Amino acid sequence: MSDTLTTAWALAWIRGAQAVLAENRMLLIELDRQIGDGDHGANMDKGFTAAVAKLEAGAETVQDVLKVVAQTLMSTVGGAAGPLYGTAFLRASKALGDSSEVDAAGVVALLEGALEGIVARGKATTGEKTMVDAWTPAIAAAQAVAEAGGSATEALYAASKAALEGAEATIPMLATKGRASYLGERSIGHQDPGATSTAYILAAAADASGLA
Ligand code: ADP
Ligand code: MG
Repeated sequence: MSDTLTTAWALAWIRGAQAVLAENRMLLIELDRQIGDGDHGANMDKGFTAAVAKLEAGAETVQDVLKVVAQTLMSTVGGAAGPLYGTAFLRASKALGDSSEVDAAGVVALLEGALEGIVARGKATTGEKTMVDAWTPAIAAAQAVAEAGGSATEALYAASKAALEGAEATIPMLATKGRASYLGERSIGHQDPGATSTAYILAAAADASGLA
């Protein structure tokens, strides 16, 4: 396992995210049908497919990869998720500063940047049944690994596991942000689609670190 993550990792991450989002397109559509309008799977598949196509030309740095993803998601994905994930990837890119490789502290910075972007855009806090409920525990888990002297890969695996648990923990929550909030009490008992796509994206990030 590599201790620092490079541009090759970032490219493998986005290709992996595209693959897992395409594979789970129907599942995300079904989750969004239950508490939204059923477009989340199509939105995410379309956005990441476009990002992979854009990245075929290559990218110099991890920051560049994340910026291309941000711009592509903002310009190709409608709904709430496009601007939210777009801002997340843009802030994640900026949070890395000019460091050339990403270590465990860099993983924490990247995830924190992403969450800051999501909150700046969507104004949600934890417990409102959104993707914030996946990113927040992911950061805490990565931070714990970084503080214990773990590697970037270990930080990503911890983040990925925590994001999945966070997504599952949205099931009993009442939605108070986004389209699902229109359902009121009827939003309870369903897993949030955006928290679920976040778990897939972070799983792809962790898996890519083993490849690149
Ligand atoms: P739309 O709701 O416009 O159809 P999507 O279906 O693509 O967009 O995305 C829905 C997801 O977006 C939700 O499951 C939730 O995780 C996320 N979301 C919606 N509003 C917010 C918000 N204000 N803050 C954070 N995440 C949000
Ligand atoms: Mg939707």
